[in-house]
Amino acid sequence: MKIAIIAGDGIGSEIIEQGKKVLRTVAHKYNFDFEHKDVLLGGSAIDEKGVPLPEETVEICKESDAVLLGAVGGPKWDKLPGNLRPEAGLLGIRKALGVFANLRPAILFPELAGSSNLKSEVLGNGLDIMIVRELIGGAYFGDKNRIDIEGGKKAWDTIAYTSFEIDRIARKSFEIARKRNKKITLVDKANVLESSKLWREVVEKISTEYEDVEINYMYVDNAAMQLIRDPRQFDVILTENMFGDILSDEASMLTGSLGMLPSASVRGDSFGLYEPVHGSAPDIAGQDKANPIGTIMSAAMMLKYSFNMTAAAENIKNAVSQVLKEGYRTLDIASEGTKVVGTEEMGDIICKGV
Ligand code: NAD
Repeated sequence: MKIAIIAGDGIGSEIIEQGKKVLRTVAHKYNFDFEHKDVLLGGSAIDEKGVPLPEETVEICKESDAVLLGAVGGPKWDKLPGNLRPEAGLLGIRKALGVFANLRPAILFPELAGSSNLKSEVLGNGLDIMIVRELIGGAYFGDKNRIDIEGGKKAWDTIAYTSFEIDRIARKSFEIARKRNKKITLVDKANVLESSKLWREVVEKISTEYEDVEINYMYVDNAAMQLIRDPRQFDVILTENMFGDILSDEASMLTGSLGMLPSASVRGDSFGLYEPVHGSAPDIAGQDKANPIGTIMSAAMMLKYSFNMTAAAENIKNAVSQVLKEGYRTLDIASEGTKVVGTEEMGDIICKGV
């Protein structure tokens, strides 16, 4: 297994170190080898190479089977022009790697139910929803313009999808659902949008090839409501770019804690770019305060989705769950009666539980 590792900026190096530690521990336990190369992206790349996305980084990521990324950005680089900012490196690497599906799990461990805004009876034994969002089509990339009209202006954005774009992400979602609870909800607005009607047609057709996976259809306005009313009804939510952007943020708030959440950006093969959903948290960088669990869970997603090592991935998730059960918390998720530990110690305790 060849893994490119991008620590990035701010808390990036602290959390990535814990991710690597956990990977080394499971590699030893499950008897596999991984070779990793550290590469630069974002602010650290600007400082060393003068650009946020050095050519060498793109090449090494392309030669790898998967990429694990910490976070990029920080006030030091905020005044640079847009194309030279750390975030340009992040968008650039996603584009260069051709990842078209964003997987955003909303996982709430029962021990952290107090961090959610929802009532405990709605959360039950915790949550584990996977939102699969189309990443490079739809309104954000469609034809858009602004013109002057008599007495005012007119602006438009177009939601356009080809059956090819829907087909590839739908197949990916069915494969993902097979590794989970075998249930997909396609979220759309097929009662009014033509593009949504095409999504339904394509997904319905593909579903006949995956008869072991249950498929449901739901309008996006209802889905936004159901996520709050009864989030446990969902397993995999498949949706287009803009609906996914909104629903994944809504779902992440159900879990209450940014530092816990992993994500992946994937394409048709087994390659993936795995990263926590939070940023580089410059306010706590270098203080051993960052929560490494989002990164550690991203490493677990990498094992599951890029390397098909479901048992090792489950092992990591169970170790995290156990550590939380024993009352260990980083500062961001601490509550009364829990034991506060630093980034490094949290990594060490999770390794012991693997
Ligand atoms: P942020 O996610 O970095 O931080 C928001 C708040 O959450 C801060 O108070 C921070 O201390 C806390 N936080 C975040 N991750 C944490 C963790 N693992 N453990 C404990 N606390 C954590 O968002 P921001 O402050 O808006 O952005 C800071 C920088 O990160 C900016 O330069 C931004 O552009 C960048 N950013 C990068 C990414 C990425 O690399 N994918 C994503 C979002 C923001």
